[in-house]
Amino acid sequence: MSDTPETLETVRKRCGCCGELYELTLPPVSAEEGDVYDLDQRPPQPNRSVMYRQIFRCPYCGFVVGPKLRVVDEDFVKDPDYVSCEGNCLPEGTGADFYRLGMTSFGERDYVNAFEAFLRAAWAFDDADDDVSAKKCRDRCISMMGVLPGKNAYDYLVRADIFRRAGRFSELPDEIRNAHFPDGLSNSIMRFQAEKAAEGDRARYTMKDVFDKITHGNK
Ligand SMILES: [Zn+2]
Repeated sequence: MSDTPETLETVRKRCGCCGELYELTLPPVSAEEGDVYDLDQRPPQPNRSVMYRQIFRCPYCGFVVGPKLRVVDEDFVKDPDYVSCEGNCLPEGTGADFYRLGMTSFGERDYVNAFEAFLRAAWAFDDADDDVSAKKCRDRCISMMGVLPGKNAYDYLVRADIFRRAGRFSELPDEIRNAHFPDGLSNSIMRFQAEKAAEGDRARYTMKDVFDKITHGNK
């Protein structure tokens, strides 16, 4: 039997802020095998753990990047806004890192990626059972409705889930809530969201939960 030590995967990055070269150990890929997405498109394992391997924080200055190289001034990273995640004071870790990545994208007016990063921050806090921080990240997604209102059924359904899970379903814009989708499944999902919201239910649900409801004939 070979005595090979467990190989830790590492990645090397050149910081786009302070210029230092750093090496990070990647979190392991989950051995879990899920197959159902949450209604906000949060992926099942192992895809979720793979996502968490795509966020990198410079240990020298704290600048966070995703797979894409980004360059910012030191002032941006030292700003109390960046340090405190816009005053949200999120606990340090993957969630806060995704949030800061969202801030960088937002500053570049790359709203699609900013929204995605804020939502990924929420997912990381879901995984950490930190409901308070997850809500702050969903609130940040909601605050982007003006600049990124969503343009198709997929976007609308994700937004419906974000509003409900933030406890703000009644604020979901009418054109989304009352949208009539060409396919039955999308309509079923929106109806499911409205019912759960009416019950004050902010829990996480998956596509399977919607299918189960449909097959049980509960219109
Ligand atoms: Zn740095």
